[in-house]
Amino acid sequence: MQPPSTRPRVTVLAGPTSVGKSTLSRHIRTHYPQVHFSVSATTRPPRPGEHDGVDYHFISPERFDELIKAEAFLEWATVHGRHRYGTLRSTVEQALTEGKHVLLEIDLQGARQVRQRMPEAQFVFLAPPSFEDLVARLTHRGTEDEEERRRRLETAKIELQAESEFDVTIINDDVDRAARELLARMGLDVTNADPATT
Ligand code: 5GP
Repeated sequence: MQPPSTRPRVTVLAGPTSVGKSTLSRHIRTHYPQVHFSVSATTRPPRPGEHDGVDYHFISPERFDELIKAEAFLEWATVHGRHRYGTLRSTVEQALTEGKHVLLEIDLQGARQVRQRMPEAQFVFLAPPSFEDLVARLTHRGTEDEEERRRRLETAKIELQAESEFDVTIINDDVDRAARELLARMGLDVTNADPATT
């Protein structure tokens, strides 16, 4: 049996909307290639700069329905009352077979499903330094219209209350510090990192 620090496992990263999960994910992808991300499927159309198979598998609602029916998802959810997102079982299983540490960056509903189906996973809540900070992030992001921002803020308020359901809270006060804390929680080595090139 491998020692706990090197045993492949699943870590679920969730948190309120706009806390900076995707910025943190991007930072980790760039600087810490030892982390293996699970690429989710979504019915949301790609944003500028996003690539199919890298950021998400961008699929049609019909294809999403087929995958649900085939029980291909470890978890899936309709996020912000609009688009559907899901983690493919095959993606996670393949990574674990290859001995990789898998990171799932998903919403709270999905995290709860994983908790039920894979209780041995580690659950990490990414929290903002303050609620005001979260509102500021949401307002300055600029990728959503007013209605969408309002909807996401409502979701965020509910999501913030879920912190106690998680094993660990990481405060997203600084992206590299938060990344290192997450990697340490995953039992990964961060000594090869180059924080100067963030
Ligand atoms: P965005 O559309 O901004 O990329 O993501 C919106 C939300 O969907 C984020 O909170 C993100 O964590 C969540 N999300 C992304 N992939 C998945 C997934 O596979 N399952 C679930 N449940 N949520 C996801």
